[in-house]
Amino acid sequence: MKKIALLGSTGSIGTSTLQVVRQHPEKFQIVALSGGSNVRLLAEQIQEFHPLFVSVGSEAAAKELRSLLGDARQPEIGYGEEGLLQAAALPDANFVMTAVVGSVGIAPTLAAIEAGKTIGLANKETLVSAGHLVMKAARERGVAIIPVDSEHSAIFQCLAGERRQDLSRIIITASGGSFRNRSRSELENVTVAQALSHPNWSMGAKITIDSATMMNKGFEVIEAHWLFDLPYEQIDCVLHYESIVHSMVEYKDGAVKAQLGTPDMKVPILYALSYPGRLPLETERLDFSKQATLHFAPMDFDRYPLLSLAYACGKTGGTAPAVLNAANEIAVSRFLQGEITFLQIEQIVEQVCQLHESVAQPSLEEILECDQWARTQAAKFAAR
Ligand code: NAD
Ligand code: MG
Repeated sequence: MKKIALLGSTGSIGTSTLQVVRQHPEKFQIVALSGGSNVRLLAEQIQEFHPLFVSVGSEAAAKELRSLLGDARQPEIGYGEEGLLQAAALPDANFVMTAVVGSVGIAPTLAAIEAGKTIGLANKETLVSAGHLVMKAARERGVAIIPVDSEHSAIFQCLAGERRQDLSRIIITASGGSFRNRSRSELENVTVAQALSHPNWSMGAKITIDSATMMNKGFEVIEAHWLFDLPYEQIDCVLHYESIVHSMVEYKDGAVKAQLGTPDMKVPILYALSYPGRLPLETERLDFSKQATLHFAPMDFDRYPLLSLAYACGKTGGTAPAVLNAANEIAVSRFLQGEITFLQIEQIVEQVCQLHESVAQPSLEEILECDQWARTQAAKFAAR
């Protein structure tokens, strides 16, 4: 039985994870849930899954949740960073699904590793900001980190049964996001609603914007660097319109393995939960008699400058990726609030990264300091 602590249960990955759990009640049990401010949904999830522990974003949300649950059997309820850490290290859990958004995931991921839990990692910002610490902790504690991001799940699946020394490169596919059919000059006046309409995937707001700027692919390059212990020279990206080929691995004899499927996050979520085995899943199947053509095109680094910046920050290493991520978190949230334009996201992230002097081999404290510094700088640029 997998006893799961699900961090970020009210989000896109969180609710998809619960759909997967629902299909296999004999294999998976939810022992902890955590969400931010959507207490109504959290209350429904509690009534259905009966977790032992639940964490919410704030003390006020915890109070609201208690009153919503009323006389029903209540789980223990925590809140804030402390609550998230408690959910991550809950003794009753043996698997932690990290599906919160942003670098707020760093501390709970490290706490879960420290407590010896297997990690299903969706929260990519954690690996971007603190990859060296997370991977080192996992190695030392002998804990498996299983990717949930569809591209990394694909690569993980393509690597199964192969020898590491035979790998020549990985090829990460990118749909191009909401504005893939627009030139840069056509991005001047795009709206939040337009940016939020992704052609292939239904996801949380932040990652949908990151897909439109290609920052998401940049983060995935850095995520792959840490997960698969590969130099950036062996990580390539290619545009692929249909999001059917989730990513590929090329071997030294020229053979390429790919993992294909319909764009449904339940597939990589279930793979992380059932690894090294597989379980049945109710999901749309690929129909090759209908899906006759797959399109690929070279990645356009001029069209998507944040992808080039991500490679540069990844190669610099140290605190550079944490700064890249934190500046982006602020810029994206300002864009979503209608305070800056779409193209200002790129400008702000570039400006903050330019100001930063990377610290090599940073401690957790140094990473969090730089994260905070980058947020302050990004907020200043956004206010100009
Ligand atoms: P989302 O915005 O839909 O959900 C985020 C969840 O985190 C919610 O439950 C929210 O309440 C919670 N949360 C947010 N801020 C919090 C805080 N400060 N403290 C505690 N909880 C907080 O996001 P999502 O799209 O589900 O993405 C989650 C993570 O998975 C992200 O890192 C994203 O990059 C990654 N990911 C998502 C997808 C996808 O299809 N949605 C695919 C690949 C990777
Ligand atoms: Mg992805």
